[in-house]
Amino acid sequence: MASEQGFFAQVNRSFDKAAALTDHSPELLGQIRECNSVYHITFPIKRDDGKIETIEAWRAEHSHHKLPTKGGIRYSPLVNEDEVMALAALMTYKCAIVEVPFGGAKGGIKIDRREYSDAELERITRRYTFELLRKNFIGPGVDVPAPDYGTSSREMSWIVDTYLTLTGGELNALGCVTGKPIAQGGIRGRTEATGKGVFYGIREACALPEDMKELGLATGVDGKRVVVQGLGNVGYHAARYLQDAGAMLVGLAEYEGAIAAPGGLDLEKVMVHRRDTGSILGFPGATDIPASSDALELECDVLVPAALENQIHAENAGRLQTKIIAEAANGPTSADADEILAERGVMILPDAFLNAGGVTVSYFEWVKNLSHLRFGRMEKRHDEQARRRVLEALAERTQGGSFSDEELRELSRGAGEHDLVHSGLEETMAIAYHQMRDTRARHEDKTDLRTASLINAIDKIAICYSDLGIFP
Ligand code: NAD
Repeated sequence: MASEQGFFAQVNRSFDKAAALTDHSPELLGQIRECNSVYHITFPIKRDDGKIETIEAWRAEHSHHKLPTKGGIRYSPLVNEDEVMALAALMTYKCAIVEVPFGGAKGGIKIDRREYSDAELERITRRYTFELLRKNFIGPGVDVPAPDYGTSSREMSWIVDTYLTLTGGELNALGCVTGKPIAQGGIRGRTEATGKGVFYGIREACALPEDMKELGLATGVDGKRVVVQGLGNVGYHAARYLQDAGAMLVGLAEYEGAIAAPGGLDLEKVMVHRRDTGSILGFPGATDIPASSDALELECDVLVPAALENQIHAENAGRLQTKIIAEAANGPTSADADEILAERGVMILPDAFLNAGGVTVSYFEWVKNLSHLRFGRMEKRHDEQARRRVLEALAERTQGGSFSDEELRELSRGAGEHDLVHSGLEETMAIAYHQMRDTRARHEDKTDLRTASLINAIDKIAICYSDLGIFP
């Protein structure tokens, strides 16, 4: 389905709707809205069969109001300049919404990763990094990429290795990219961070009885019927946490087709089936849906699009049978669909809020790289010993006895990096959700959560600019 407008124009349509509800000057709003820099690159690579191919790639830096800029790199045959500009803009707003001190950026390489060998992907990634460095589009204080659609910690490891090789001796070089493997300066909890953040966001929304009542739903994630589109990094982890919390996965969609089962699907079994057969189709006990996008129209409580943009558009929005759309992907709902769904009373948890878990934990990773210290290393044992002393004193006074060694170990356990990352992520998502909801309430609930989240983003970015004294 072709988009009603370009992706960047759609993001700007949402921005304009929110901007109209603020009292910032048109000049300032214009500065926030524009994309500051776009770097378009073409370079040749040698395929394994000796043929030379020209690769097209981009990096867009949407806003430099805070540095470095930050945003993923996607490998997709569909990527283009408009898309990276739109995604970079979403990154600017996302960082502001969750108070992560970065400007927004995004990169893309126009390839279908399935058509390239590992060695070819490595050559492409390393050359792309070299090109970014040549034009000062990468660096711990400049622009910091991360994984996105079609990339993972493996590509990030090639990026950091190339950067280290070319910049030799730069103290904070590990902070040039996030989403790295742990041994190369990555952080525990980054891989599942976006999906976990999606889960926290949905859980927060489902916890409010008045909002759920309006949708005709019970409170809590437990028992919710969920459909997930895209079982990659974000979709898989979101589905896993939702299922662990008692939600029922009634539909799962991948690019080869979708499957449905009103009684619920076991995610791990589906993943094993896909690994063994190469497809989710044919999963025992489930109904096959050969046209994957039809799964979006399954009856459910929460629809989680976690693949690509513009999946829900003017043509299919009227047929959706969900109460909540949880935008795990970036831009899955077109601006026209947004209006149709608002009229139908569907709650949309907007992308710039809901999938911000990735950039939040990337921020923690970047801070870890700059501090050269693992979170929890200094205080973990100290905290454990302090808690142990309190517990022993308590046991003596109240029971005249003591806790078992097992109980003491469990009750006094200090927080390690993984615990701290998840706690920081949970706190961030909860605060951002309530800020967004409060803003909606300030506008007498006449606006939607996307507009409310963008009002918050604009207000926070405006503070950075107003201190410069340039804008009226
Ligand atoms: P991924 O490459 O790990 O997974 C995407 C999955 O979607 C793949 O399994 C792919 O086969 C599937 N897919 C592709 N087209 C599909 C279709 N038409 N129908 C059903 N499934 C389809 O990518 P990801 O990192 O999980 O990213 C997914 C989305 O989340 C993107 O919009 C991305 O920008 C956004 N996002 C990712 C992160 C992150 O940390 N990775 C952070 C924020 C937002």
